[in-house]
Amino acid sequence: MFDFLEETLASDELITSSGRTATLSWTRPAPGVMILEPNTGGSKNVVISTAIHGNETAPVEIVAELISGILTGKYVLKVRLMVIFGNLEAMRKGERYIGIDLNRLFSDHYLRYKDCSETQRAARLQQVVADFFQAESDKPRLHFDLHTAIKPSFHVAFGILPYLQSGNYQQDMIAWLQSAGLEALVVNHAPTSTFSYFTSNECAANSCTLELGKARPFGENDLQQFTGIQQGLVNLVADQEVAAVEVNSALAVYKVAEVIIKSSEQFKLNFADDVENFTAFPKGFILASDRDVKYRVEEENGYILFPNNKVKIGFRAGLLLKKDDLSAITLVAS
Ligand SMILES: [Zn+2]
Repeated sequence: MFDFLEETLASDELITSSGRTATLSWTRPAPGVMILEPNTGGSKNVVISTAIHGNETAPVEIVAELISGILTGKYVLKVRLMVIFGNLEAMRKGERYIGIDLNRLFSDHYLRYKDCSETQRAARLQQVVADFFQAESDKPRLHFDLHTAIKPSFHVAFGILPYLQSGNYQQDMIAWLQSAGLEALVVNHAPTSTFSYFTSNECAANSCTLELGKARPFGENDLQQFTGIQQGLVNLVADQEVAAVEVNSALAVYKVAEVIIKSSEQFKLNFADDVENFTAFPKGFILASDRDVKYRVEEENGYILFPNNKVKIGFRAGLLLKKDDLSAITLVAS
């Protein structure tokens, strides 16, 4: 049988570019991209992307299993589905990226850099996703971009909601995120150059970046820890109803208080390398210092997310978060 993951890892050549089963048809509009459509028409447009960072393999394995399950009839498909393996060259090499972090290049940010495999890939992905949504533009649009974090995390699985000027997030999406077992949501405070911000802002999709555990090489993932998201995706593509948002749930909500930027070689994080995501620091603590700036916790408690000393100068070296709850998000019906 056609193996999407195997063919994608082998080369960019599309040996098998389309096909059908008794209940659906599929096409591959670009390397690492596949569209599956039920014969009866899909109720929604759903994009699931993985490996925007090439070494984050667990979501790739989960999505590859989902696709083969759909093709063999193990799983029901009731939506138009686009699946994406993002950074193919990096994926083949087991690296996060080759030249530039692909998740800093969307919303045309790729135009700011010298032409390379990642700038070309960002342009291609923007196009195929926009075309996919446009083809049946009257249907609801969803995009989940699946990642695993570099560091261990106090919240094992969490989501990052892209900045929305309205501040209104679709309640069905939040309910689905809860049903998939996410422990926390981080609400972004400003536009970014990520894939999920692009689909949210430019394609009017309900989008979220999901962080699902720690990055490991292919074959070394303990998929047991991902059963919540696996079942969630099966329900999503079958267009199964999920329970309504549980407002008083344990789901933690964080807002971005400050973006920590590395602006010189003097940049230094003032805590150990192995500090987990969402570790709390007390008011007044200086999280990082740079040539002429100090990043201090201003709230009662500050929480660190994605600390990374090794980013290039001018890039984000971490986020300082403040804690909130679900009432901080305005939920709207679709
Ligand atoms: Zn990632």
